Amino acid sequence: MSQPAVASVQPGSLYVVATPIGNLDDISARALRILRDVALIAAEDTRHSARLLQHFGIETPLAACHEHNERDQGGRFLARLQAGEDVALISDAGTPLISDPGYHLVRQARAAGFAVVPVPGACALIAALSAAGLPSDRFIFEGFLPAKAAGRRARLEQVREEPRTLIFYEAPHRILECLQDMREVFGGERPALLARELTKTFETLQGLPLAELCEWVAADSNQQRGECVVLVAGWQAPEGEEAVSAEALRVLDLLLAEMPLKRAAALAAEITGVRKNLLYQVALERKGESL
Ligand code: SAM
Repeated sequence: MSQPAVASVQPGSLYVVATPIGNLDDISARALRILRDVALIAAEDTRHSARLLQHFGIETPLAACHEHNERDQGGRFLARLQAGEDVALISDAGTPLISDPGYHLVRQARAAGFAVVPVPGACALIAALSAAGLPSDRFIFEGFLPAKAAGRRARLEQVREEPRTLIFYEAPHRILECLQDMREVFGGERPALLARELTKTFETLQGLPLAELCEWVAADSNQQRGECVVLVAGWQAPEGEEAVSAEALRVLDLLLAEMPLKRAAALAAEITGVRKNLLYQVALERKGESL
């Protein structure tokens, strides 16, 4: 078989590289090697990342890849990959794509068939969870809550009966009102933890029931500064009672309005996963109440 006159260039790889969330020593040896070796670094804020690279004596060129240009500029980075060059993606801090830009570029690169290689490292939510002492076998990350009170409360309502540990990012100027809304929606007894300034000089991890955590933050304005992660224990059915969530009750009530009690309980059990006999008992009580 004849060889092509010019050997086709091996396409490059896109490395998704985590950088520190405060303490520069948290960067990995592999991350440094890759940031040195790639042809180009796509960065959320090139001025911010230039300082990081300078600290480590890395001279790789930077190009902006932030939420406003990511979709349109993707082609530019893909062209470099197509030319056989490796590109690294970084954000201002921590793991790209985690409440940070990069999603569109990663999608575009994968769709075009390029290798996308994770280079793991710091991530605020994982760092906080690893030291929180709250159940870590199952958790959900809710990112940033809506900035306005009504939207925030509505979102919190949606996860009120979520049994897994809840993790949120929050801006310091909203931390107190955010915790107060959590206290209203989840109840003041619910265990929670505020992880602030992780890996930095004023790192603080304070675990308290929500009511006490609110008081603690309100009493000390220093706790309303810096970067923070909030963790809240998942919902637990009240002791001694079997759980019938508000959502299961809502489904049951809708069905009770439309069909005989036994059928409603059976269907609600299928939809919600709650035991049929339990829902049957609850349905009897609810029908009794409405007589
Ligand atoms: N990509 C980052 C990561 O991997 O964690 C998150 C970027 S997001 C734009 C910034 C938010 O992450 C902050 O508002 C805060 O909620 C959280 N965060 C980042 N660094 C932190 C730190 N050192 N301590 C506590 N929270 C931090």
